[in-house]
Amino acid sequence: MFIGHFGVALAAKKLTPSVRLGTLLLAAQFLDFLWPILLVTGLEKVAIVPGITVVNPLDFTSYPISHSLLAVIGWALLFGFAYYMWHRSPKCSFVLGILVVSHWVLDLIVHRPDLPIMPNSPARYGLGLWNSLSATVAVEGALFVLGVGLYLSATRTRDRIGNWALWLFIIVLGGIYAANLFGPPPPDTKIIGWAALALWLFVPWAYWIDRHRRALGDSSR
Ligand SMILES: [Zn+2]
Repeated sequence: MFIGHFGVALAAKKLTPSVRLGTLLLAAQFLDFLWPILLVTGLEKVAIVPGITVVNPLDFTSYPISHSLLAVIGWALLFGFAYYMWHRSPKCSFVLGILVVSHWVLDLIVHRPDLPIMPNSPARYGLGLWNSLSATVAVEGALFVLGVGLYLSATRTRDRIGNWALWLFIIVLGGIYAANLFGPPPPDTKIIGWAALALWLFVPWAYWIDRHRRALGDSSR
């Protein structure tokens, strides 16, 4: 799943207006931000198998550190704890931890059975929504549109940047998503790691958008 995770991050602003959008995105996409680092360092593995699902040609052969449920719960606790040490907000820390886990749950819906519960167990899970292009686009598109709607209702722009930086973010994400859906499969696995690393750029971008928007219901900003 791709833009669905971004949708969840945007939606969470409604629940925790004091948390910056960049932080919400870092939590909701944490596993996929970690994954390319593990890919380029050779700690996790992926293969390209065109047609393995209708939507996604990647065979996630090994990703126990970024995508096994047990490790994910560990990352969620670590993320929530780090935020708590910094901001002393139990509610926001809890929401951020849930966002980290939400990634795995949403991946479970779309992936073919390739997600492990325990890092070293051979059993793999996945409900396989990626076997249908229309169902994938419907579910992920709905999550994204809902997220954008909730973020818009939770914030007001302070200046013009707060408006166009957000819409550009939405358009670029939509463009990358469409290219992934309808473009050719990646030529080799090295490119996957570096391309996925580039998605880190959306984190500072999200902070930038948020700095130019005022969160409603947040007296601290
Ligand atoms: Zn993922």
